[in-house]
Amino acid sequence: MVSAQPAPPVRLTLAGRRGRPPRHLADLDLAGRRAAMADLGEPPFRAVQLSRHFFGRYTEHPDDMTDLPRTSRAALAGALLPPLLTAVRELTCDDGTTRKTLWRGFDGALVESVLMRYPDRVTMCVSSQAGCGMACPFCATGQAGLTRNLSTAEIVAQVVAGARVLAAGEVPGVSVGRGGRPPQTPPQRARVSNVVFMGMGEPLANYADVVAAVRRLTDPVPEGMGISQRSVTVSTVGLVPAISRLAAEDLSVTLAVSLHAPDDELRDTLVPVNRRWPVPEVLNAAWHYAAVTGRRVSIEYALIRDINDQAWRADLLGSLLAGRLAHVNLIPLNPTPGSKWTASRPGAQREFVRRLESHGVPVTVRDTRGREIDGACGQLAAQAEP
Ligand code: SAH
Repeated sequence: MVSAQPAPPVRLTLAGRRGRPPRHLADLDLAGRRAAMADLGEPPFRAVQLSRHFFGRYTEHPDDMTDLPRTSRAALAGALLPPLLTAVRELTCDDGTTRKTLWRGFDGALVESVLMRYPDRVTMCVSSQAGCGMACPFCATGQAGLTRNLSTAEIVAQVVAGARVLAAGEVPGVSVGRGGRPPQTPPQRARVSNVVFMGMGEPLANYADVVAAVRRLTDPVPEGMGISQRSVTVSTVGLVPAISRLAAEDLSVTLAVSLHAPDDELRDTLVPVNRRWPVPEVLNAAWHYAAVTGRRVSIEYALIRDINDQAWRADLLGSLLAGRLAHVNLIPLNPTPGSKWTASRPGAQREFVRRLESHGVPVTVRDTRGREIDGACGQLAAQAEP
């Protein structure tokens, strides 16, 4: 049939390609890795050896695996450690303590991750999808639509890559203080302590791979990377059935809910999926999650000037959250290119905080690292061209 439609953009072509990335060790649990070894004609204990290289030493290079027979190294690495993500661009700011990487997948799909080193912790912000289908109008990723889900190993690989540059001493310890003071601590080895699923994509729309990635990240070496479950945050627009499912996983991860408005009328426009699961249902799912896990839920709220920062909305939000196991994380809006919206005035932000606190609701204002490198919340848009 001849179609009068214009050719679809490349993004849609990629989305239409249903290919999965090659199988990787991090896609499998230890039992699966043992079975894969048997298929390769290797003894099962090689699964542990190879896992220690990847999850404990962050290496994928056969030459480094001196505990494996020289004859099997390349074959094992080739079969279970295929390259998944290639760094296309690396940008740093905040004196090198914030580092954004643009990655290209096997099929050309682009995703970004951000490493943020603080004096007391290192947080990796990872992508769970290439693009995003949730279409939130203030978010750069939401403008481009969904390309595809990332595999478990593609998610894990972003964190392993961060751990690798830290272990190599490539990330300085503390940024230079005000007045040009020298760093308080010299560049030193450090570990990834926290992971937030706040990069590109809606994690709960890629449920199985995200939950498997959480297990790989938090299971102890050699099963996984050994990061504490409590230091992992899964952020969602509020996919209610998936929140209930996550509550039943027996994981102690923090749930973040991107609320951005306390009323359905406004939230329908800021977070379009609200038309399917409105505010009361999202909050009920959040309280259920808090009750089952005992974990305080983080309510994300991007403050947008004259859109959602009115005093009455602060009071409404405060009354919805009062007495709940929740805290509010206010994010000054990072305007995306061409956006008609901007961050709230300082006075409005202060008043918003004050009113929430007057309801007894704990509030923090998010530090927005990485602004100059488009690495701040909602700016990850994966432009390959400079
Ligand atoms: N899809 C998930 C996770 C990705 S975004 C979610 O929506 O929760 C992580 C956080 O950054 C979300 O709270 C999101 O709403 C917020 N965000 C997106 N664009 C932003 C922007 N331009 N300024 C500030 N925060 C933004």
